[in-house]
Amino acid sequence: MTQYICPSCGSKYFMTSKTREKIIFQVTDGRSVEFVEMTTEEINNIVIDAHNICCGACSWQGSLDEVVESHRD
Ligand SMILES: [Zn+2]
Repeated sequence: MTQYICPSCGSKYFMTSKTREKIIFQVTDGRSVEFVEMTTEEINNIVIDAHNICCGACSWQGSLDEVVESHRD
């Protein structure tokens, strides 16, 4: 499985926004978004702005296209 990480600090956790409700997700194969600890009902109501995501660990903000591929076992 491919895991995408923050280009700044290498964290694999991202958030939809730092100011609104914090929704944490990871980015895996094909840059698909995988939510952490969410019910299916909650996930169906989430709208991600792919051009404005935040790192969960540092102050990086950017687009889903900018996260970098991590090669690990
Ligand atoms: Zn980061």
